[in-house]
Amino acid sequence: MTEPSPAWSPRTLAAQALGHIDEPSRAVVPPIHIATTFLRDPDNQYRSGNVYGRADNVTVREAESIIAALEGADAAMVLGSGMSAATAVFLALAPGDHVVVPKVMYWALRGWLQNDATHWGLRVEGVDTTDLDALRQAMRPGETKLVWLESPANPLWGVTDIAAAADIAHAAGAKLAVDSTCATPVLTRPLALGADIVMHAATKYLNGHSDVIAGALATLRPDAFWERIRRNRSMFGQILGPLEAYLLIRGMRTLPLRVAAACTSAMDLATRFAGHDHVAQVLYPGLPGHPGHDIACRQMQGGFGGMLSIRVRGGERAAIDAAARVRLWKRATSLGGVESLIEHRASIEGTGSPCPPDLLRLSVGIEDPADLFADLDAALRGANA
Ligand SMILES: *Cc1c(COP(=O)(O)O)cnc(C)c1O
Repeated sequence: MTEPSPAWSPRTLAAQALGHIDEPSRAVVPPIHIATTFLRDPDNQYRSGNVYGRADNVTVREAESIIAALEGADAAMVLGSGMSAATAVFLALAPGDHVVVPKVMYWALRGWLQNDATHWGLRVEGVDTTDLDALRQAMRPGETKLVWLESPANPLWGVTDIAAAADIAHAAGAKLAVDSTCATPVLTRPLALGADIVMHAATKYLNGHSDVIAGALATLRPDAFWERIRRNRSMFGQILGPLEAYLLIRGMRTLPLRVAAACTSAMDLATRFAGHDHVAQVLYPGLPGHPGHDIACRQMQGGFGGMLSIRVRGGERAAIDAAARVRLWKRATSLGGVESLIEHRASIEGTGSPCPPDLLRLSVGIEDPADLFADLDAALRGANA
């Protein structure tokens, strides 16, 4: 088998899913391994490395090796959802551990950390992670075991300086984990900036076609903490199914192209809506006026992502009405797919959300941005009814 060359770019590695060939058939697309159990050797050993499907699956490992290559990681793990990946990191901590998490972040994880993580004895402290002084002050050296970041962060797209946060976390003896779902490995590689673990809702950009729920973790140093996460994945049965792993592999082949298209269109739309009569504010790290713009310029290569939010001038009612009038944009939750989605976030995020009621979140897909602008422009103006 031809091993991938270290000189090949992520786009090349992704396009060929690392170029793995199925040797018996010489197929350029790897087969889907669905067996749940594997033959022992005559002397009772398992030299194939495969024992039982709750821990071992070759298709899952293929997906993991692609994610590891894209993130520049030594090891990766895929799990049954983004939430299972995120909670797996917290559940590998010990009761009593103190964790520092963002105040503005993916709503379901914020809710779990506030309401459920305490049942496992975790002490959870929310802080504005974009404010490095606030982050520094939240650290309790020796007690804080994990700092969690999301950048750019749902749904306001604040950008946290990952390299600076890594220094702060490590100085206090804590690990740094980054939810990099919206940056994708195409734009940011948190491990190269000092993070210990990077997490993805692979449901989103990595898969990219709104047809798989999956999560991923990757690390540079598969240490005892990492092995505890892996053991929990097996014990709790959180491994991704092989059919989903195959779809994820197929989706990742076009990741760099999809992300590039989404970034270009998102920048175009952000610029156009920034001057729009019916839009009070555009939240997008690519705009020079965005508070995270300077860090994003350093930390994100090749674009500022496909996610932005607009605040509608007429308030909550006008925002919901505009979302009701779109025809091309799809009124749905989730993000990172080839089709553009629009969502009134405050209605899903519930109490404790930092999301303003006039905000519409936009996940920009790969359609023609002129069509996307025309559709939303008409919806904001009250046309399209
Ligand atoms: C969707 C999402 C998650 C959760 O992923 P699921 O696959 O839905 O469980 C976590 N973080 C971010 C930023 C997300 O967008």
